[in-house]
Amino acid sequence: MGQLLLHNLRIIDPFGEREFLEHASILIEDEVIKFIGRGFSHVGFEGQILDMEGKTVLPGIINAHTHLYSTLAMGMHPPQKTPKNFVEHLEEVWWKLDRGLDRASMLASFEAGLMDCIQNGTTTIIDHHASPNLVEGSLDILAAVAKSFGVNISLCFESSDRNGEANFKDELAENIRAIKKYTSNPHISPRLGLHASFTLSDESLESVSKALKDFPDCGIHIHVAEDLADEKDAQARGYRSVIQRLDDFNLLSNQSLIIHGIFMTREDRHILLKHGCKLVHNPTSNANNQVGVLETEIIESMGPGLGTDGMQNNMLKEAKEGTLVRGATESPRVDYLELLFQNNPDIAVKIFGKLIGHIEEEAQADLVFYDYEPRTELNADNYSSHLLFGLGKPSDVMTRGRFRLRSKKLVGMDESQIRENSRKQSKRLWSAMKAL
Ligand SMILES: [Zn+2]
Repeated sequence: MGQLLLHNLRIIDPFGEREFLEHASILIEDEVIKFIGRGFSHVGFEGQILDMEGKTVLPGIINAHTHLYSTLAMGMHPPQKTPKNFVEHLEEVWWKLDRGLDRASMLASFEAGLMDCIQNGTTTIIDHHASPNLVEGSLDILAAVAKSFGVNISLCFESSDRNGEANFKDELAENIRAIKKYTSNPHISPRLGLHASFTLSDESLESVSKALKDFPDCGIHIHVAEDLADEKDAQARGYRSVIQRLDDFNLLSNQSLIIHGIFMTREDRHILLKHGCKLVHNPTSNANNQVGVLETEIIESMGPGLGTDGMQNNMLKEAKEGTLVRGATESPRVDYLELLFQNNPDIAVKIFGKLIGHIEEEAQADLVFYDYEPRTELNADNYSSHLLFGLGKPSDVMTRGRFRLRSKKLVGMDESQIRENSRKQSKRLWSAMKAL
């Protein structure tokens, strides 16, 4: 790939080296940003030059926890039995949806989900997958779809005892197979996925612990203390907490992704900080499941990333809605843009081992462009409210120096065909769920 010079841009990278820069140019070479600034000399430049007409550009946006397998849930019928609590909600809704997936509906979920990610500027996705009736090879399907959209993907399978011992073994094996296959792929970060402590026996955790010893650079990705039921289960098994239980099985490291953590104790936080684990907060999912609001003190002490838990693919909306949900019950002292534009890149850099999530020299050229004509003054001091309340959807999205969305049209993909297929597959999936 040659050189590409994008000029006439307003750069906003809230926690980057260049927080706010107008009339700027970005030079890209070999998928990487090589120069940012105002003073690039065009004299003698032989690469391609694009006038970006004053567009606002953000770094490619990162979702630190989601479930692309649940993309076809929108509009599905309510459960036949009304759930009375969090675990019943899982049993009646999500554990039927994941068991209902077959190859065609899973592929449609990934395609429609990743298309929506690109259309919302989300270019790095940390996914937690479940399809208990199609385990082997499922992560290859996700990897292939992610490759076709040009996104960075972290993938894992939610290992769990909830569908029996044989299924757990297959799920653990799928994680191991993917870790071996994708560890050296720069665009794929495999993790060892676990559903949650309350669906895993001590014997299963022991086999995970043994397997993980062979992959010291790979951490677990697990839901923790999303609901009090998870903590009560760990205590009934003789542990002080879920985090204590995971630590007893040597499952925590500086590569671990700990999701939710709403009911963690102060001691749990100390254990996570000691190991350098990363916490991920999912405010709209927590509100939807009515499990509570993550304490401000936990956010301030842990510096969590921001995920959507499958609720949506627009991370600026997640940040806005997180701000509003928290503001409804307590003083909104949390800066959700810090979670999104500082903590998420920190997580991505750690698990992908390359510079992504900032507009900096030597960072991967993942960029999100907006045609944004603000109705009020926009400057270095007030851009935050424009990001949360003004921007809308991007006009163009680039990953690795290539446009994946140009003038709101997908590049090299048939959007209407993907939508038509996902509508067809959603009906098949919903009727499969009714039979479960
Ligand atoms: Zn989740």
